[in-house]
Amino acid sequence: MSHCLPPPDDSLSIEALDKLNIAALVYRCDEHITLEGANHSARRLLSHFAPLEGGEEPWQWCSGQESGHPARYWCCGDEASDREQTPRVRWLRFNEGGRRMALALTGCRLDGDGTSNRVMMVLQDCTRQIIQHEELKRSQECISSIINATPMGICVLTEDGRFEMVNPAYCRFHGYEEHELVGRPFSMVVPYSSHQYLRRQHQGALGSRHGHVQQFGECELVSRSGERHTVIVESVRIEGEDGRPRDVIFLVDISERKKLEMALEEKNVRLEYLATHDELTGIRNRRFGVSSLEAALEQAERQGLDISVALLDIDHFKRVNDDHGHTVGDRVLQQFAEVLSRQLRVSDILVRWGGEEFLLILPGIDMDGARQALERLRHSLSLEYLSPRGLQVTFSAGIINARGMNSNALLESVDQKLYQAKGRGRDRIVF
Ligand code: GH3
Ligand code: MG
Ligand code: MG
Repeated sequence: MSHCLPPPDDSLSIEALDKLNIAALVYRCDEHITLEGANHSARRLLSHFAPLEGGEEPWQWCSGQESGHPARYWCCGDEASDREQTPRVRWLRFNEGGRRMALALTGCRLDGDGTSNRVMMVLQDCTRQIIQHEELKRSQECISSIINATPMGICVLTEDGRFEMVNPAYCRFHGYEEHELVGRPFSMVVPYSSHQYLRRQHQGALGSRHGHVQQFGECELVSRSGERHTVIVESVRIEGEDGRPRDVIFLVDISERKKLEMALEEKNVRLEYLATHDELTGIRNRRFGVSSLEAALEQAERQGLDISVALLDIDHFKRVNDDHGHTVGDRVLQQFAEVLSRQLRVSDILVRWGGEEFLLILPGIDMDGARQALERLRHSLSLEYLSPRGLQVTFSAGIINARGMNSNALLESVDQKLYQAKGRGRDRIVF
């Protein structure tokens, strides 16, 4: 039995309810439902001042979750008087003009003995609330579909660091299902070594002001299955519906960008290498040699130090190619450069000047030291058997003390000395 409705007898007229501004309709429920009466408040609410009694209702009850006439609910069955009295919302559409209206309805059977089939229905206009509610629902659905579709991982953490909400991208990053995460502490998806740090960050975020954004920068994330993602992490503090703070975490996957960056970096390193090194022997190339020579000469000048430069040329190298083929020739050139490099100091610069010619820059070394260094190289080379063919080669070289010289004059002079070494029978050093 309802406590808020009038007692179920005819003594209370629907006109009396007008004093309380309560809109009420009375129906007779036979095979068909007939509208018997409407009080003034109902007429005003329904903007219909013509008498309604006995006629057809000038509107249609729209079907939604429920269909049929709403009065039927309160008149059918013996237990009708016990029917739930929470308002039932129904839309009606006026036949004229097609205007729609949402009404919150409560009702009861107007009988004392349980035999009457008359129903009183109390109406309240709730069109605005229902429209607002539907709009809110639509915008919430729209927001959730965006959150569900975004490639950005999003989760909401409660004050005690438990997942309140996780979106599909967040679940994918960590390799968990939503139901495995919600209600669980966030520490289950991060490595133990980061627990303390992240807990401090979480507390810091909660203590900050509403909307405060915290940036964690780039992190490496390993999912349950071992899949790695590089992500940018940001968090923002918001207030939950209960007024308590929440920490919302955003993860943006930058793995692909990172891979591209790394590939580009590798390419740059490779390009820089190719620009400064000789591809066959791996030692410095002529371009690098020229600039190194200029720099070394300048430094020697500035610091008043000695500097020696030698030009080396392998003797009768053409024969190596002619007798054993170009591939063996290449191998001999590689090993020749290796043997020499092993004997040099880090400050010495060995350059493949071209073909089977090599420039050697010896900063801080005077003529005597340079001659000794070159003799040492000749000696080391004499102990080596190069290429799978076990070939032995010699070189001729010119050396000069380059202190105070410019590079052009120096190169000309050292070339002449090399020429002299060749002329004097090869396998020797001229200074
Ligand atoms: P010399 O003692 O007068 O210097 O005689 P040479 O035979 O060493 O001098 P020449 O200038 O006549 O020949 C140099 C040869 O070096 C000719 C060339 O084919 C060869 N050569 C130059 N660069 C390379 C290379 O990168 N690989 C190979 N296999 N051979 C090369
Ligand atoms: Mg030669
Ligand atoms: Mg040559």
